[in-house]
This record gives sequence, C-alpha cells and structure tokens, in this order.
Amino acid sequence: MATTHMHVRRNDIVLVCAGREAEGKKTGKVLQVMPGKAKAIVEGLNFIHKTMRKSQDHPKGGIIKKEGTIAISNLMLFCPHCKDGVRVARVRGENGKVSRKCKQCGHLFDG
Ligand SMILES: [Zn+2]
Repeated sequence: MATTHMHVRRNDIVLVCAGREAEGKKTGKVLQVMPGKAKAIVEGLNFIHKTMRKSQDHPKGGIIKKEGTIAISNLMLFCPHCKDGVRVARVRGENGKVSRKCKQCGHLFDG
C-alpha cells in the first residue's frame, strides 16, 4: 500500500484552512492522524454528535459530542511565530533527523 506523506502529525497544532470549520482561524491540537483516509481528528474542532448504545460506560446510552474527522488537506501547520497556518519545508539537521521548517520565518517544528 502506498502511504501518502502526511504534513501533519499527532500533537501538531494546526489551523483549519478549508471546510466548515475554516471561519475564524480555528486552531487545535492533532489527536489522531489516519493516513489511510487522509483525515485527522483535531482537539476541540468539528464536533459531531454520536449516538451511544447502552453500555457499562454509558449506562443510559444517548448522544455524546465528539470530535469528527477533518480532511488533512484542509489543515495547515500553525506557526507560533507567524501566528498563521504556514507551508513547511523539510530540512535535515546535523544529527540526520528530518525536521519541518516554516517557509516564512524558519521556525523549526520538530527541533
Ligand atoms: Zn513561521
């Protein structure tokens, strides 16, 4: 299976740049990335209502609010210096580790 390279990773802070959460420059932390589906779950964004069956954890069942998936193409890495969603370049550090660098200000995300 060909794995598409993901520009966001778990624990990244991302900005939503398209889709129904795009208004108002919303940012959040990536909780989970699903490379196979090119989707991610971002903390506090894109809530969906999910119906729960009755279970031990939810004895009454009912409807819970939960983060839904967002297409990764709708997310940009959020640069704390630029205070905006930015494009990143890949750079190889002295230790051979590949980091992502903000193309605008040079901030390293993985340093
Ligand atoms: Zn920057």
